[in-house]
Amino acid sequence: MHVVVNAATSADGKLSSRRREQIAISGEEDFARVDRLRADSDAVVVGVGTVLADDPSLTVKEEQLCERRREQGDPEQPARIVVDSTGRTPTDAAIVDDAASTYVCLSEAAPVDRRMDLADRAELVTAGEDRVDLLRAFAALEAAGLERIMVEGGGELIFSLFEAGLVDELRVFVGPTVIGGRDAPTLVDGDGFVAEFPTLSLESLERVDDGALLIWRADG
Ligand code: NAP
Repeated sequence: MHVVVNAATSADGKLSSRRREQIAISGEEDFARVDRLRADSDAVVVGVGTVLADDPSLTVKEEQLCERRREQGDPEQPARIVVDSTGRTPTDAAIVDDAASTYVCLSEAAPVDRRMDLADRAELVTAGEDRVDLLRAFAALEAAGLERIMVEGGGELIFSLFEAGLVDELRVFVGPTVIGGRDAPTLVDGDGFVAEFPTLSLESLERVDDGALLIWRADG
């Protein structure tokens, strides 16, 4: 399995404002790059916080990219994956619509009624007692044939993926906006590290739109 974390941050490292609403940080060139990266993935992952804040569909938008996937024998759209301990994903969320297949990763704490509602719209993967155990969940997804994984956030999930040693690559578009706010989500939130900080090696640095695209490889 190869896991690429991709996100757009403001110049000061925020994913969004303190209101946790979606903010247009990147421009057209970066949207096209993200679309290509989705098209090159078997699955696109988000945390339930992002589903509740942004209601993303996570589908590939460019028709030619969908066609290329079909020609390669892949499903027209990559699968979508939500990391959602208790099944808070609404049944009318875009991520569980008919546009692509969806997996919801739950923990044992997810109530039966939420499981039943979501089971009509998605494949359910259960791993972990109170919170999704990402190592086990990702192992189950790999066993289901999902090898090329793109993670689109948010900051809570990205922290846990680094903590679990699951990140292979980090791609960050840094845009020309300042958001600020101590309570605004950042690229990596969670509890944060106090020792044994994950380290990265810079692979490339490129001007994209009015910002910069940094591609980092995770060490170790
Ligand atoms: P998130 O990372 O999308 O989701 C976090 C939630 O996932 C947790 O609260 C937890 O809820 C669930 N979860 C289950 N198991 C987990 C585990 N092992 N580790 C971590 N989380 C786990 O939410 P977020 O950090 O609040 O991010 C949402 C914000 O980021 C929004 O403001 C959105 O607009 C922004 N965003 C921006 C970008 C960008 O590129 N700029 C991309 C994505 C999101 P349960 O305990 O209920 O399961």
